[in-house]
Amino acid sequence: MFLGILAGFIIRNIFSDFQVVDEYIVNGLFNIGGAIFVASLKMLVVPLVFVSLVCGTSNLKDIKSLGRLGSKTLLLYILTTAVAITIALLMAIIFKPGVGADLKSSSVFKSEAAPELGEVFINMFPTNPINAMAQGNTLQIIVFAILFGIAVSAAGNHGERARSAFEDLNEIIMKLVTILMLVAPYGVFFLMAKLFSTIGLSAIYNLISYFLLVAITLIIHALLTYSIILKSFTGLSPITFFKKMEDALLFAFSTSSSNATLPVTMETTTHRMGASNKVASFTVPLGATINMDGTAIMQGVATVFISQAFNIDLSLTDYLMVIVTATLASIGTAGVPGVGLIMLAMVLNQVGLPVEGIALIMGVDRLLDMMRTAVNITGDSVVTCIVAKSENQLDLDKFKDPNAGSEDE
Ligand code: ASP
Repeated sequence: MFLGILAGFIIRNIFSDFQVVDEYIVNGLFNIGGAIFVASLKMLVVPLVFVSLVCGTSNLKDIKSLGRLGSKTLLLYILTTAVAITIALLMAIIFKPGVGADLKSSSVFKSEAAPELGEVFINMFPTNPINAMAQGNTLQIIVFAILFGIAVSAAGNHGERARSAFEDLNEIIMKLVTILMLVAPYGVFFLMAKLFSTIGLSAIYNLISYFLLVAITLIIHALLTYSIILKSFTGLSPITFFKKMEDALLFAFSTSSSNATLPVTMETTTHRMGASNKVASFTVPLGATINMDGTAIMQGVATVFISQAFNIDLSLTDYLMVIVTATLASIGTAGVPGVGLIMLAMVLNQVGLPVEGIALIMGVDRLLDMMRTAVNITGDSVVTCIVAKSENQLDLDKFKDPNAGSEDE
Protein backbone atom coordinates (compact mmCIF):
# COMPACT_ATOMS: atom_id res chain seq x y z
CA MET A 1 0.00 0.00 0.00
CA PHE A 2 2.74 2.46 0.94
CA LEU A 3 4.76 1.64 -2.15
CA GLY A 4 1.63 2.29 -4.23
CA ILE A 5 1.05 5.66 -2.56
CA LEU A 6 4.70 6.54 -3.09
CA ALA A 7 4.64 5.51 -6.75
CA GLY A 8 1.49 7.59 -7.26
CA PHE A 9 3.06 10.66 -5.65
CA ILE A 10 6.23 10.35 -7.69
CA ILE A 11 4.31 10.04 -10.93
CA ARG A 12 2.03 12.95 -10.11
CA ASN A 13 4.80 15.27 -9.05
CA ILE A 14 7.70 14.29 -11.29
CA PHE A 15 6.34 12.55 -14.36
CA SER A 16 3.08 14.43 -14.85
CA ASP A 17 4.29 15.90 -18.14
CA PHE A 18 5.22 12.58 -19.67
CA GLN A 19 2.35 11.36 -21.75
CA VAL A 20 3.84 7.87 -22.07
CA VAL A 21 3.77 7.42 -18.31
CA ASP A 22 0.18 8.54 -18.19
CA GLU A 23 -0.90 6.34 -21.06
CA TYR A 24 0.96 3.13 -20.34
CA ILE A 25 1.54 3.18 -16.62
CA VAL A 26 -1.29 5.10 -14.94
CA ASN A 27 -4.11 4.36 -17.36
CA GLY A 28 -2.56 1.13 -18.55
CA LEU A 29 -0.87 -0.99 -15.91
CA PHE A 30 -2.27 0.58 -12.71
CA ASN A 31 -5.76 1.03 -14.05
CA ILE A 32 -6.07 -2.45 -15.53
CA GLY A 33 -4.35 -4.20 -12.61
CA GLY A 34 -6.51 -2.42 -10.03
CA ALA A 35 -9.74 -2.92 -11.96
CA ILE A 36 -9.10 -6.65 -12.40
CA PHE A 37 -8.38 -6.96 -8.69
CA VAL A 38 -11.60 -5.22 -7.63
CA ALA A 39 -13.60 -7.18 -10.22
CA SER A 40 -12.24 -10.47 -8.88
CA LEU A 41 -13.24 -9.52 -5.35
CA LYS A 42 -16.73 -8.53 -6.45
CA MET A 43 -17.00 -11.73 -8.47
CA LEU A 44 -16.99 -13.69 -5.22
CA VAL A 45 -19.61 -11.63 -3.38
CA VAL A 46 -22.87 -13.03 -4.77
CA PRO A 47 -21.89 -16.72 -4.67
CA LEU A 48 -20.32 -16.25 -1.26
CA VAL A 49 -23.33 -14.52 0.30
CA PHE A 50 -25.79 -17.00 -1.16
CA VAL A 51 -23.91 -20.23 -0.49
CA SER A 52 -22.63 -19.35 2.96
CA LEU A 53 -26.02 -18.08 4.11
CA VAL A 54 -27.80 -21.21 2.85
CA CYS A 55 -25.23 -23.24 4.81
CA GLY A 56 -25.76 -21.03 7.85
CA THR A 57 -29.55 -21.18 7.91
CA SER A 58 -29.87 -24.81 6.89
CA ASN A 59 -27.83 -25.64 9.96
CA LEU A 60 -30.07 -23.72 12.31
CA LYS A 61 -32.08 -26.24 14.21
CA ASP A 62 -35.06 -24.04 14.78
CA ILE A 63 -36.55 -20.86 13.45
CA LYS A 64 -36.41 -19.27 16.89
CA SER A 65 -32.63 -19.13 16.91
CA LEU A 66 -32.72 -17.42 13.52
CA GLY A 67 -35.08 -14.78 14.91
CA ARG A 68 -32.84 -14.29 17.94
CA LEU A 69 -29.75 -13.98 15.77
CA GLY A 70 -31.53 -11.49 13.50
CA SER A 71 -32.85 -9.26 16.24
CA LYS A 72 -29.58 -9.15 18.18
CA THR A 73 -27.65 -8.26 15.03
CA LEU A 74 -30.06 -5.56 13.91
CA LEU A 75 -30.20 -4.02 17.35
CA LEU A 76 -26.41 -3.87 17.64
CA TYR A 77 -26.03 -2.45 14.13
CA ILE A 78 -28.52 0.33 14.81
CA LEU A 79 -27.11 1.03 18.25
CA THR A 80 -23.49 1.36 17.06
CA THR A 81 -24.54 3.60 14.18
CA ALA A 82 -26.52 5.88 16.49
CA VAL A 83 -23.50 6.12 18.82
CA ALA A 84 -21.25 6.90 15.84
CA ILE A 85 -23.40 9.75 14.59
CA THR A 86 -23.86 11.18 18.08
CA ILE A 87 -20.08 11.32 18.59
CA ALA A 88 -19.74 12.93 15.15
CA LEU A 89 -22.32 15.62 15.96
CA LEU A 90 -20.71 16.38 19.32
CA MET A 91 -17.25 16.66 17.76
CA ALA A 92 -18.52 18.99 15.05
CA ILE A 93 -20.46 21.13 17.53
CA ILE A 94 -17.42 21.44 19.79
CA PHE A 95 -14.76 22.03 17.13
CA LYS A 96 -16.90 24.06 14.69
CA PRO A 97 -15.10 23.18 11.43
CA GLY A 98 -17.38 25.30 9.20
CA VAL A 99 -17.58 28.54 11.19
CA GLY A 100 -16.26 31.55 9.29
CA ALA A 101 -16.88 30.25 5.78
CA ASP A 102 -19.89 32.61 5.49
CA LEU A 103 -21.49 31.10 2.44
CA LYS A 104 -24.88 32.05 1.04
CA SER A 105 -27.20 29.49 -0.40
CA SER A 106 -27.96 30.57 -3.95
CA SER A 107 -30.79 28.26 -4.72
CA VAL A 108 -33.07 25.87 -2.97
CA PHE A 109 -32.20 22.35 -3.91
CA LYS A 110 -34.64 19.52 -3.53
CA SER A 111 -33.18 16.08 -3.31
CA GLU A 112 -35.07 12.82 -3.50
CA ALA A 113 -37.07 12.04 -0.38
CA ALA A 114 -36.27 9.11 1.86
CA PRO A 115 -37.93 5.93 0.67
CA GLU A 116 -41.10 4.87 2.49
CA LEU A 117 -40.46 2.26 5.15
CA GLY A 118 -43.10 -0.06 3.64
CA GLU A 119 -41.40 0.17 0.28
CA VAL A 120 -38.06 -0.76 1.84
CA PHE A 121 -39.56 -3.99 3.21
CA ILE A 122 -41.33 -4.85 -0.03
CA ASN A 123 -38.12 -4.31 -1.98
CA MET A 124 -36.30 -6.80 0.21
CA PHE A 125 -38.30 -9.62 -1.35
CA PRO A 126 -37.06 -10.55 -4.82
CA THR A 127 -39.65 -11.32 -7.48
CA ASN A 128 -36.90 -13.09 -9.32
CA PRO A 129 -33.95 -14.42 -7.30
CA ILE A 130 -31.78 -14.83 -10.40
CA ASN A 131 -32.34 -11.19 -11.21
CA ALA A 132 -31.47 -10.24 -7.62
CA MET A 133 -28.20 -12.14 -8.00
CA ALA A 134 -27.49 -10.67 -11.43
CA GLN A 135 -27.92 -7.19 -10.01
CA GLY A 136 -26.03 -8.00 -6.82
CA ASN A 137 -28.92 -6.88 -4.64
CA THR A 138 -27.57 -8.12 -1.30
CA LEU A 139 -30.72 -7.64 0.77
CA GLN A 140 -32.81 -9.61 -1.73
CA ILE A 141 -30.17 -12.34 -1.91
CA ILE A 142 -30.14 -12.51 1.90
CA VAL A 143 -33.92 -12.95 2.05
CA PHE A 144 -33.94 -15.64 -0.64
CA ALA A 145 -30.99 -17.50 0.90
CA ILE A 146 -32.61 -17.53 4.35
CA LEU A 147 -35.89 -18.91 2.96
CA PHE A 148 -34.01 -21.42 0.84
CA GLY A 149 -31.89 -22.50 3.82
CA ILE A 150 -34.95 -22.95 6.01
CA ALA A 151 -36.52 -25.14 3.31
CA VAL A 152 -33.30 -27.17 3.04
CA SER A 153 -33.32 -27.83 6.78
CA ALA A 154 -36.99 -28.88 6.60
CA ALA A 155 -36.66 -31.12 3.55
CA GLY A 156 -35.48 -34.33 5.24
CA ASN A 157 -33.12 -36.54 3.25
CA HIS A 158 -33.20 -34.36 0.17
CA GLY A 159 -32.32 -31.39 2.31
CA GLU A 160 -29.49 -33.32 3.94
CA ARG A 161 -27.95 -34.08 0.55
CA ALA A 162 -28.36 -30.49 -0.63
CA ARG A 163 -26.86 -29.22 2.59
CA SER A 164 -23.72 -31.26 2.26
CA ALA A 165 -23.37 -30.09 -1.36
CA PHE A 166 -23.70 -26.48 -0.23
CA GLU A 167 -21.14 -27.05 2.48
CA ASP A 168 -18.66 -28.36 -0.10
CA LEU A 169 -19.38 -25.37 -2.32
CA ASN A 170 -18.82 -23.05 0.60
CA GLU A 171 -15.40 -24.54 1.26
CA ILE A 172 -14.52 -24.10 -2.41
CA ILE A 173 -15.57 -20.45 -2.46
CA MET A 174 -13.58 -19.74 0.71
CA LYS A 175 -10.61 -21.38 -1.02
CA LEU A 176 -11.07 -18.95 -3.89
CA VAL A 177 -10.93 -16.09 -1.39
CA THR A 178 -7.65 -17.46 -0.04
CA ILE A 179 -6.23 -17.70 -3.56
CA LEU A 180 -7.24 -14.12 -4.26
CA MET A 181 -5.49 -12.98 -1.10
CA LEU A 182 -2.23 -14.21 -2.61
CA VAL A 183 -2.33 -11.59 -5.34
CA ALA A 184 -3.76 -8.90 -3.06
CA PRO A 185 -0.47 -7.05 -2.48
CA TYR A 186 -0.20 -6.35 -6.23
CA GLY A 187 -3.87 -5.37 -6.47
CA VAL A 188 -3.54 -2.97 -3.54
CA PHE A 189 -0.37 -1.50 -5.05
CA PHE A 190 -2.10 -0.81 -8.39
CA LEU A 191 -5.17 0.75 -6.74
CA MET A 192 -3.14 3.06 -4.53
CA ALA A 193 -0.71 4.03 -7.28
CA LYS A 194 -3.57 4.89 -9.65
CA LEU A 195 -5.46 6.88 -7.02
CA PHE A 196 -2.51 8.91 -5.82
CA SER A 197 -1.22 9.64 -9.31
CA THR A 198 -4.57 11.15 -10.25
CA ILE A 199 -5.92 12.70 -7.06
CA GLY A 200 -5.06 16.27 -6.22
CA LEU A 201 -4.37 16.81 -2.57
CA SER A 202 -4.63 20.58 -2.73
CA ALA A 203 -8.34 20.34 -1.92
CA ILE A 204 -7.40 19.11 1.53
CA TYR A 205 -5.66 22.35 2.45
CA ASN A 206 -8.88 24.31 2.15
CA LEU A 207 -10.90 21.76 3.97
CA ILE A 208 -8.32 20.71 6.47
CA SER A 209 -10.51 21.22 9.55
CA TYR A 210 -13.38 19.21 8.09
CA PHE A 211 -11.06 16.49 6.85
CA LEU A 212 -9.20 16.14 10.14
CA LEU A 213 -12.36 16.18 12.21
CA VAL A 214 -13.95 13.35 10.21
CA ALA A 215 -10.69 11.38 10.28
CA ILE A 216 -10.19 11.84 14.03
CA THR A 217 -13.81 10.96 14.80
CA LEU A 218 -13.50 7.81 12.69
CA ILE A 219 -10.40 6.80 14.62
CA ILE A 220 -12.04 7.55 17.99
CA HIS A 221 -15.09 5.49 17.09
CA ALA A 222 -13.02 2.61 15.76
CA LEU A 223 -10.59 2.48 18.65
CA LEU A 224 -12.75 3.55 21.59
CA THR A 225 -16.37 2.63 20.91
CA TYR A 226 -15.59 -0.73 19.35
CA SER A 227 -13.02 -1.66 22.00
CA ILE A 228 -15.44 -0.75 24.78
CA ILE A 229 -18.39 -2.68 23.38
CA LEU A 230 -16.26 -5.68 22.42
CA LYS A 231 -14.68 -5.84 25.86
CA SER A 232 -17.89 -5.23 27.80
CA PHE A 233 -20.12 -7.59 25.80
CA THR A 234 -17.63 -10.42 25.34
CA GLY A 235 -14.55 -9.88 27.51
CA LEU A 236 -12.42 -10.46 24.39
CA SER A 237 -9.22 -8.51 23.82
CA PRO A 238 -9.64 -5.55 21.43
CA ILE A 239 -5.90 -5.72 20.66
CA THR A 240 -6.18 -9.28 19.37
CA PHE A 241 -9.27 -8.22 17.45
CA PHE A 242 -7.55 -5.32 15.69
CA LYS A 243 -4.46 -7.38 14.89
CA LYS A 244 -6.68 -9.86 13.09
CA MET A 245 -8.48 -7.08 11.20
CA GLU A 246 -5.30 -6.09 9.34
CA ASP A 247 -6.09 -7.72 5.97
CA ALA A 248 -9.73 -6.68 5.91
CA LEU A 249 -8.83 -3.08 6.81
CA LEU A 250 -6.27 -2.94 4.03
CA PHE A 251 -8.79 -4.23 1.50
CA ALA A 252 -11.48 -1.80 2.68
CA PHE A 253 -9.02 1.06 2.53
CA SER A 254 -7.85 0.32 -0.99
CA THR A 255 -11.22 -0.59 -2.54
CA SER A 256 -13.43 1.92 -0.64
CA SER A 257 -16.18 -0.65 -0.80
CA SER A 258 -17.64 -2.77 2.01
CA ASN A 259 -19.18 -5.01 -0.64
CA ALA A 260 -15.95 -5.70 -2.47
CA THR A 261 -14.27 -6.35 0.89
CA LEU A 262 -17.00 -8.77 1.97
CA PRO A 263 -15.09 -11.97 1.06
CA VAL A 264 -12.13 -10.81 3.15
CA THR A 265 -14.30 -9.71 6.10
CA MET A 266 -15.94 -13.13 5.98
CA GLU A 267 -12.57 -14.88 5.92
CA THR A 268 -11.32 -12.74 8.79
CA THR A 269 -14.32 -13.24 11.08
CA THR A 270 -14.58 -17.00 10.50
CA HIS A 271 -11.06 -18.32 9.90
CA ARG A 272 -9.06 -15.79 11.89
CA MET A 273 -11.46 -14.83 14.70
CA GLY A 274 -13.33 -18.10 15.04
CA ALA A 275 -16.94 -16.98 14.51
CA SER A 276 -19.00 -19.84 13.07
CA ASN A 277 -20.20 -19.66 9.50
CA LYS A 278 -23.75 -19.89 10.89
CA VAL A 279 -23.41 -16.44 12.47
CA ALA A 280 -20.94 -14.74 10.11
CA SER A 281 -22.80 -15.78 6.94
CA PHE A 282 -25.71 -13.74 8.24
CA THR A 283 -24.10 -10.83 10.07
CA VAL A 284 -21.30 -9.96 7.63
CA PRO A 285 -23.33 -9.59 4.37
CA LEU A 286 -26.09 -7.83 6.29
CA GLY A 287 -23.55 -5.50 7.86
CA ALA A 288 -21.87 -4.76 4.52
CA THR A 289 -25.29 -3.65 3.29
CA ILE A 290 -26.88 -1.82 6.20
CA ASN A 291 -24.25 -1.10 8.84
CA MET A 292 -22.20 1.97 7.97
CA ASP A 293 -20.91 3.66 11.09
CA GLY A 294 -18.10 5.41 9.22
CA THR A 295 -20.54 6.78 6.66
CA ALA A 296 -22.83 8.03 9.44
CA ILE A 297 -19.87 9.81 11.05
CA MET A 298 -19.02 11.59 7.81
CA GLN A 299 -22.67 12.57 7.38
CA GLY A 300 -22.91 13.90 10.94
CA VAL A 301 -19.79 16.06 10.69
CA ALA A 302 -20.70 17.16 7.15
CA THR A 303 -24.20 18.26 8.19
CA VAL A 304 -22.93 20.43 11.03
CA PHE A 305 -20.06 21.71 8.84
CA ILE A 306 -22.48 22.78 6.11
CA SER A 307 -24.88 24.38 8.61
CA GLN A 308 -21.98 26.38 10.08
CA ALA A 309 -20.59 27.33 6.67
CA PHE A 310 -23.99 28.65 5.57
CA ASN A 311 -24.74 30.24 8.97
CA ILE A 312 -27.90 28.22 9.45
CA ASP A 313 -28.66 27.29 13.05
CA LEU A 314 -29.80 23.81 13.85
CA SER A 315 -32.17 23.24 16.77
CA LEU A 316 -32.08 20.29 19.15
CA THR A 317 -34.92 18.70 17.19
CA ASP A 318 -32.87 19.14 14.03
CA TYR A 319 -29.95 17.31 15.65
CA LEU A 320 -32.23 14.46 16.71
CA MET A 321 -33.58 14.39 13.18
CA VAL A 322 -30.02 14.17 11.85
CA ILE A 323 -29.35 11.19 14.15
CA VAL A 324 -32.45 9.37 12.90
CA THR A 325 -32.03 10.19 9.19
CA ALA A 326 -28.28 9.57 9.11
CA THR A 327 -28.86 6.18 10.75
CA LEU A 328 -31.50 5.40 8.11
CA ALA A 329 -29.34 6.84 5.34
CA SER A 330 -26.45 4.64 6.38
CA ILE A 331 -28.79 1.64 6.24
CA GLY A 332 -29.79 2.68 2.73
CA THR A 333 -26.22 3.35 1.61
CA ALA A 334 -24.89 0.60 -0.64
CA GLY A 335 -21.41 -0.62 0.25
CA VAL A 336 -19.78 0.85 -2.84
CA PRO A 337 -17.45 3.81 -3.25
CA GLY A 338 -18.84 7.29 -2.78
CA VAL A 339 -22.49 6.51 -2.11
CA GLY A 340 -22.36 7.95 1.38
CA LEU A 341 -21.94 11.41 -0.11
CA ILE A 342 -25.03 10.98 -2.28
CA MET A 343 -27.10 9.82 0.67
CA LEU A 344 -25.97 12.91 2.55
CA ALA A 345 -28.43 14.83 0.35
CA MET A 346 -31.25 13.05 2.12
CA VAL A 347 -30.00 14.11 5.55
CA LEU A 348 -29.45 17.72 4.50
CA ASN A 349 -32.89 17.87 2.97
CA GLN A 350 -34.48 16.58 6.12
CA VAL A 351 -33.21 19.49 8.19
CA GLY A 352 -33.56 22.13 5.47
CA LEU A 353 -29.88 22.63 4.66
CA PRO A 354 -28.77 23.50 1.12
CA VAL A 355 -27.85 20.33 -0.73
CA GLU A 356 -25.31 22.26 -2.79
CA GLY A 357 -23.18 22.21 0.38
CA ILE A 358 -22.13 18.76 -0.75
CA ALA A 359 -20.03 20.37 -3.46
CA LEU A 360 -17.96 21.96 -0.68
CA ILE A 361 -16.71 18.68 0.70
CA MET A 362 -16.57 16.64 -2.48
CA GLY A 363 -12.89 17.32 -3.03
CA VAL A 364 -11.77 15.37 0.00
CA ASP A 365 -14.41 12.69 -0.07
CA ARG A 366 -12.41 10.11 -1.97
CA LEU A 367 -9.82 9.90 0.80
CA LEU A 368 -12.41 9.97 3.57
CA ASP A 369 -14.30 7.21 1.77
CA MET A 370 -11.30 4.92 2.18
CA MET A 371 -11.19 5.56 5.91
CA ARG A 372 -14.91 5.33 6.56
CA THR A 373 -15.17 2.07 4.63
CA ALA A 374 -12.50 0.63 6.94
CA VAL A 375 -14.62 1.72 9.93
CA ASN A 376 -17.78 0.32 8.33
CA ILE A 377 -16.36 -3.17 8.05
CA THR A 378 -14.76 -3.00 11.50
CA GLY A 379 -18.25 -2.37 12.88
CA ASP A 380 -19.56 -5.43 11.03
CA SER A 381 -16.77 -7.58 12.44
CA VAL A 382 -17.21 -6.37 16.04
CA VAL A 383 -20.93 -7.11 15.95
CA THR A 384 -20.21 -10.52 14.38
CA CYS A 385 -17.89 -11.39 17.29
CA ILE A 386 -20.39 -10.18 19.89
CA VAL A 387 -23.32 -12.05 18.39
CA ALA A 388 -21.23 -15.20 17.83
CA LYS A 389 -19.97 -15.14 21.42
CA SER A 390 -23.47 -14.69 22.81
CA GLU A 391 -24.72 -17.62 20.73
CA ASN A 392 -21.80 -19.84 21.78
CA GLN A 393 -20.65 -19.79 18.20
CA LEU A 394 -17.20 -18.32 18.72
CA ASP A 395 -14.18 -20.58 18.85
CA LEU A 396 -12.22 -18.88 21.64
CA ASP A 397 -9.03 -20.82 20.96
CA LYS A 398 -9.08 -19.64 17.38
CA PHE A 399 -9.72 -16.05 18.47
CA LYS A 400 -6.75 -16.15 20.82
CA ASP A 401 -4.43 -17.94 18.40
CA PRO A 402 -2.40 -15.24 16.58
CA ASN A 403 -1.75 -17.58 13.64
CA ALA A 404 -5.30 -18.82 13.17
CA GLY A 405 -6.41 -18.64 9.56
CA SER A 406 -3.05 -17.49 8.24
CA GLU A 407 -2.22 -20.93 6.87
CA ASP A 408 -5.34 -22.63 5.63
CA GLU A 409 -5.60 -26.38 5.85
N1 ASP B 1 -17.79 3.38 0.49
C1 ASP B 1 -18.59 3.09 1.65
C2 ASP B 1 -18.65 1.60 1.85
O1 ASP B 1 -18.62 0.84 0.93
C3 ASP B 1 -19.97 3.66 1.55
C4 ASP B 1 -19.89 5.17 1.56
O2 ASP B 1 -19.88 5.74 2.66
O3 ASP B 1 -19.81 5.78 0.50
O4 ASP B 1 -18.72 1.14 2.96
